[in-house]
Amino acid sequence: MSSGRPCLRARLAGLASTLREQARWRALRCWEPLGPVQARVEGRAQVLFCGNDYLGLATHPALRDAAVAAIGRCGVGAGSAHLVTGHGPEHAALEEEVAEWLGRPRALLFGSGYLANLGILQALLGPGDLCVQDKLNHACLLDGARLSGALLRRYPHADVEAAARQLATRREACAVLATDGVFSMDGDIAPLAELAALCRREGALLVVDDAHGAGVLGEQGRGTAAMLGLPAEAVDLQLVTLGKAFGAYGAVVAGDATLVEALLQRARSYLFTTALPPAVAAAARAALRLIRGEEGARRRERLAALTARFRRGAEQLGLPLRPSPTPIQPLVLGADARAVAASAALARRGFAVAAIRPPTVPEGQARLRITLSAEHRADQVDALLEALHEVVREVAA
Ligand SMILES: *Cc1c(COP(=O)(O)O)cnc(C)c1O
Repeated sequence: MSSGRPCLRARLAGLASTLREQARWRALRCWEPLGPVQARVEGRAQVLFCGNDYLGLATHPALRDAAVAAIGRCGVGAGSAHLVTGHGPEHAALEEEVAEWLGRPRALLFGSGYLANLGILQALLGPGDLCVQDKLNHACLLDGARLSGALLRRYPHADVEAAARQLATRREACAVLATDGVFSMDGDIAPLAELAALCRREGALLVVDDAHGAGVLGEQGRGTAAMLGLPAEAVDLQLVTLGKAFGAYGAVVAGDATLVEALLQRARSYLFTTALPPAVAAAARAALRLIRGEEGARRRERLAALTARFRRGAEQLGLPLRPSPTPIQPLVLGADARAVAASAALARRGFAVAAIRPPTVPEGQARLRITLSAEHRADQVDALLEALHEVVREVAA
């Protein structure tokens, strides 16, 4: 019997074959950890140059011990949402400690960076409002703006003048300007001083997603704005994700009491989800202690030295690196198939480097996204450079 309704399964099968034809099919593989920067996949040990565990804290004994001790006290699951009974001492302490670290009055813990960005923009904005964003922002800022119903305007990457024009055209609307601090696929840094001045002039709120800056940049790892020398209040809401340099999971948003309280009251991705497992919050607290202390400073120094070594080597070999002062080092190869072939050739040599394709990056800018960790050894970086040199020639031929 046919209802005349189009077949959803057939449509999905069609989309799947299109993705395969375009070399955009994504395959899930199982990575068995072998150490901070090594894992076995499909029977082969690989050195990882594609993670976001920039300081190597995900496997640090201090985080593990804090998590195990917290499980002993609190069990595994939080049991309910924060506003029911899920909010416990580990969550509360983590929020206070992050707020203090960043010099802001309040902070709020979300389940992940993705959930936080959905919640922030949905809670702050509604139909009739304006959300101005950098074109290269992370997908979840885009999704958050869509969820809010606000008018979304995206300015060309890092173009402050264009952002100013977009804000100026709608002065009757409440407005938020949202930007990544460090751009996740390019590794470059947002012009936060100029954007903060613009937001002050225009009466717009500035939201900075510092997923890749927090822990890595600035004094005590306070992030991109701190590295640029901005006062803490220059950024209205700063998002710190806990799954990258913190080596844990979750995200904390810091700001003033009015804004943070608005998130607590209104953000649906905060209200209608189970609180983070307390042990994960405990691990994040342990990570924050390391990040603020001497060990964090040592690891940041080491990471910066490895990044400089990689860039120097790449320059000597004539590899087409983009300017990036962070441990995210993109090597743009253009066609999707070239990036995929280069990634596969690196895997055969024992290096895991992700091929990033559209829609994650713009059309025609498929790339290898190389990321460094404080746990890499200098000889591993050198060996990667040698492999890249061969592979980039191979895929050009
Ligand atoms: C990874 C990332 C997120 C999402 O954070 P999760 O905690 O992994 O959900 C948000 N924004 C940016 C810029 C990111 O790179």
